[in-house]
Amino acid sequence: MDNIKTDGEIEIMRENALLVSRTLAEVAKYIEPGVSTRKLDEVAEKYIRDHNAEPGFLGYKGFPNTLCISLNNVVVHGIPSDYILREGDIVSVDCGTKMKGFYGDSAYTFAVGRVSPEAEKLMKETKESLYKGIEQAVEGNRMGNLSYAIQSHVEQFGFSVVREMVGHAIGRKMHERPDVPNYGRKGRGPYLRSGMVICIEPMINLGKKEIFQERDGWTVKTADGSLSAHYELTVAVGKDKADVLSTFEFVENVLNKKS
Ligand code: MG
Ligand code: MG
Repeated sequence: MDNIKTDGEIEIMRENALLVSRTLAEVAKYIEPGVSTRKLDEVAEKYIRDHNAEPGFLGYKGFPNTLCISLNNVVVHGIPSDYILREGDIVSVDCGTKMKGFYGDSAYTFAVGRVSPEAEKLMKETKESLYKGIEQAVEGNRMGNLSYAIQSHVEQFGFSVVREMVGHAIGRKMHERPDVPNYGRKGRGPYLRSGMVICIEPMINLGKKEIFQERDGWTVKTADGSLSAHYELTVAVGKDKADVLSTFEFVENVLNKKS
């Protein structure tokens, strides 16, 4: 069955999406060499609770924190810790909220100070691939077209797409059907319908696509130790154009002020 939201539900989801977007911007203010990833988690949790919402990830399947913080060769689901950010790190921050019965979910990969040209390129093109995917989130299109747009964009640079983890529809549950893969073929997969709300979240490796999970049951790393980047936005599929519910505008305003 198609997972279609009403206009009213989409507006509540937009509130969640904007809160997540603002939370990431608050976290962005603190990202610099010398700060622990645990501190970023505390900033996010306080900000979410101060805005009458709950952290969406805390306790989700037993996850211990508000943010997933994934450094360098960590693809996703890193756990905040006493690790101190260092110049040259890249750090993916993934944040969820729950408010008025619905979830929000968004991620952004940050540079800590100056990073290598390869890291810079990986981040830039991973984010670009997300926007390529969003362009395809229109009624009547197939999911495979969206997936293909992401995959073909990053593979032209020799980067690779993680297969085991994918984007997802979102609503009263964090992860709903259908899946939103970051690899695929045009003309395949479910048809997109106006009112579907999906999280598009390319997870892209500088080296090979293979990954493994650490013994903590969460942290996912690249098998070859190469860097990985991750960006995520929530969009409602539209008749002619996707309605992008979350935004990187707040984050990027903070980053532009810093530089
Ligand atoms: Mg996420
Ligand atoms: Mg997600």
